[in-house]
Amino acid sequence: MDTPSLDSNSDTHPGGCLCGNIRYVATGHPVVVAHCHCEDCQRLSGAGHTTGAMFATTHFEISGNFAEYTLVSSAGNQVTKVFCPTCGSPILGKNDGMEGLVTVSLGTMDDSSGFDPEVVIFANNRKPWDIMSDTLATFPEQPKWSPENTR
Ligand SMILES: [Zn+2]
Ligand SMILES: [Zn+2]
Repeated sequence: MDTPSLDSNSDTHPGGCLCGNIRYVATGHPVVVAHCHCEDCQRLSGAGHTTGAMFATTHFEISGNFAEYTLVSSAGNQVTKVFCPTCGSPILGKNDGMEGLVTVSLGTMDDSSGFDPEVVIFANNRKPWDIMSDTLATFPEQPKWSPENTR
């Protein structure tokens, strides 16, 4: 006999910025949870890496007043960072090479303790003081799993 288990898509993960202006809800399991040591992430976070959980935009809702900053990544993609204009919390990033996905800053979730980072990317820019578990799948740069984007 099958006991109906909780649909994983009914898991909701609320979060928000430091000052409370921005609130969001992500739903379901993230596509991937990754630590990124790229230079952009170090400047954005002011720390050795960011930790992002990728969700489909259809599984993510945001409310509040947010600001955006768009840059061109080393791979040539337009990357848009969404942050709170009042307190500066980095909420999420979008990449035009990965349509339909947002990468949520995991530390802004109300309770992120159940998430399990699986990968480390841009490890070639990891600083010696930022110690990571060597049991994680580690890539020197961005692994080639994202859609091709030649233009
Ligand atoms: Zn804020
Ligand atoms: Zn990065």
